[in-house]
Amino acid sequence: MKQNSDLNASFYSPVVRRLVPYVPGEQPKIDGLVKLNTNENPYPPSPRVLAAIQLAAQQGLQLYPDPEATALRQTIAAHHGLEPQQVFLGNGSDEVLAHGFFAFFQHGCPLLMPDISYSFYQVYCRLYGIPVETVPLTESLCLDVAAYARADGTAIAGVVIANPNAPTGVGLALQQVEQLLRLHPRRVVLVDEAYVDFGGDSAMGLIAQYPNLLVVHTLSKSRSLAGLRIGFACGQAHLIEALERVKNSFNSYPLDRLAIAGGVAAFEDQAWFEQTRRAVMSSREGLVLALEDFGLQVLPSQANFVFARHPTQDAAAIAAGLRARGVLVRHFKLPRIEQYLRISVGTPAQCDALVQALASVLAALA
Ligand code: PMP
Repeated sequence: MKQNSDLNASFYSPVVRRLVPYVPGEQPKIDGLVKLNTNENPYPPSPRVLAAIQLAAQQGLQLYPDPEATALRQTIAAHHGLEPQQVFLGNGSDEVLAHGFFAFFQHGCPLLMPDISYSFYQVYCRLYGIPVETVPLTESLCLDVAAYARADGTAIAGVVIANPNAPTGVGLALQQVEQLLRLHPRRVVLVDEAYVDFGGDSAMGLIAQYPNLLVVHTLSKSRSLAGLRIGFACGQAHLIEALERVKNSFNSYPLDRLAIAGGVAAFEDQAWFEQTRRAVMSSREGLVLALEDFGLQVLPSQANFVFARHPTQDAAAIAAGLRARGVLVRHFKLPRIEQYLRISVGTPAQCDALVQALASVLAALA
């Protein structure tokens, strides 16, 4: 068998042998689980999105979509007070991030990122051969901007952060994002704002001022469209042009006709967006209080999830106990955070189910 797998691997390019792929959270095949492990929105998308997708499905699926996704680009630009040439679209923000890493960070020197952040960043670095330098978060798992300075002038490839950070949920104030942009004016600072609509401070308003700022958003979280796969980046036109060059060397049509139509409709229904994101934020406050009642320490969250640890019980054991009771949460077996659980904010009923299951798990472990 070993001989066979060696033979099979010999077909791989050397770079593929070295890859360590990202492992997404479990998407269970069994019904009825309370799924609080992948930070999806617990509410469905706007009915207007469904109607737009249905209409698009009836018209022209035999034809390729618009390679520029012009309608969605214009919609997003107008929403953020930008020009369409300041917006880049991709198949989920994961793809947008990947193109960003390829376009901006392959300089042969290290890319700076927090030691605890979205783990896909390091996966892209391996894929594209980008050296990584991790910058430790503080004891309280906050980002320390001063630690990103290079007093000795050594070269860096750029900086990537998530704001709010994942998996901690902790947000960074806009002045500190600006400080990062000023520290490295000749390198791109990529700010991944996947969760910003749940209470974070967006850097979109800084784009006109900073030619090195790229802000990445997704429709997967606050617009309930994880299944449709739409992400986008905003920045000055020269950065967007670079992303277009990469995209057009990779896949002309990352967004299909249904995604373009559904994405436009999602931005047209602001009322739905406001109502659902506020419902999530309000459930979050209740969930934090309930977790604190059990003695858990919960980091301040500006996202649609909370990051919490029990003072004495092992996080992996709690996660396993919750799973046995039909509730999925995310546990990362990683240095510094292996005693934390990341719990996505669900509907009030889902949060109640989590709280009840947690009570039973903690009673069983005590
Ligand atoms: N950035 C962060 C910080 C995330 O947590 C995620 C979701 N896993 C993404 C980007 C990617 O989201 P999507 O590809 O669904 O847009």
